[in-house]
Amino acid sequence: MKNIFNETLESLETYFLNNGEKKFKATQIYDFLYKKRVYDLDKMVNISNNTKEMIKKDYNFDMIKIIKKQEDSDVKKYLFELTDGNRIESVLMFHNYGISLCVSSQVGCNMGCAFCESGRLKKVRNLEAYEMVEQLLLIEEELGKRITHVVVMGIGEPFDNYDNLMNFIKILTCPKGIELGSRHITVSTCGLIPGINKFMNDFNQVNLAISLHAPNDKIRNKIMPISKVYKLDDLMNTVKTYIKKTNRRVTFEYIMLENINDSLECAKELANLLKGINCYVNLIPYNETENIEFKRTKKVQILAFYDILKKSGIAVTIRKEFGGNVDAACGQLRAKSY
Ligand code: SAH
Repeated sequence: MKNIFNETLESLETYFLNNGEKKFKATQIYDFLYKKRVYDLDKMVNISNNTKEMIKKDYNFDMIKIIKKQEDSDVKKYLFELTDGNRIESVLMFHNYGISLCVSSQVGCNMGCAFCESGRLKKVRNLEAYEMVEQLLLIEEELGKRITHVVVMGIGEPFDNYDNLMNFIKILTCPKGIELGSRHITVSTCGLIPGINKFMNDFNQVNLAISLHAPNDKIRNKIMPISKVYKLDDLMNTVKTYIKKTNRRVTFEYIMLENINDSLECAKELANLLKGINCYVNLIPYNETENIEFKRTKKVQILAFYDILKKSGIAVTIRKEFGGNVDAACGQLRAKSY
């Protein structure tokens, strides 16, 4: 039995056509689920009983559950329990430009970045599209408001779960459904080149963010094991191809780790690496975790690093911090919910 929230409009149309029904039934179902937010088939008034019986045979409407909420002034963290008992988290951020939701894409993560708590638990499994979609549906319901932006930056590596991610984005952006603008969605990757290559063909309007965190392989290898597989040179070439193809600006995330990647030499090397590339750099003050190996770079050093990039003509910002008080900040997800 399949979950109805896994279906894109197209796949649902195919389902109806294959079963000798008109394809507009898919639009009707989509309208109930995503416009009217009716999740109970019996409450979908204009669907015929025969059709309902057919759908019931093939689909469940299972939902994940919010089991805990933690709140701070401009952030809310949600702990979800999946139908198999696994747990994931989402973080909601209130910005002046809207409300953004940081969704998880996997239970655990296999990328093993040294500084990140989410990867302490090896990947248990991928999230299916419905489990990503429902993070948004349930939080919007709880909030009574629409989420305006989605970032796939929670637990997991989205490009290690490409097909489900793809369906998730299709469901989010479908004009007959949730209708979120592609440009309001950002996918963040630690640099899985095959994923970036597919992404530029499939979604040239969705924003791409790359977790760079180092200006050379030597440092990057120490903190991000994946960089031994996908070298910085190849990654940068792929990003250049992405920009040429999509004409979009790429975000580079750069966590500031004291005495690891935060020297002024690193800043210069980074400026050189990114020169002439249509991008901007988001400097992320490291959120300290139970892993005492890493320390947050001091503010003065972050500013000096920032200045070097700025003076070299690189667009750069220092990330506004959210959620530190409720362990909802980048890299802290999932660490304490066991
Ligand atoms: N796997 C994806 C998305 C999840 S991580 C990726 O790597 O991009 C989202 C961002 O948070 C990444 O840039 C990640 O490197 C960063 N991050 C991880 N741990 C952090 C920490 N302790 N403090 C600040 N940022 C962290």
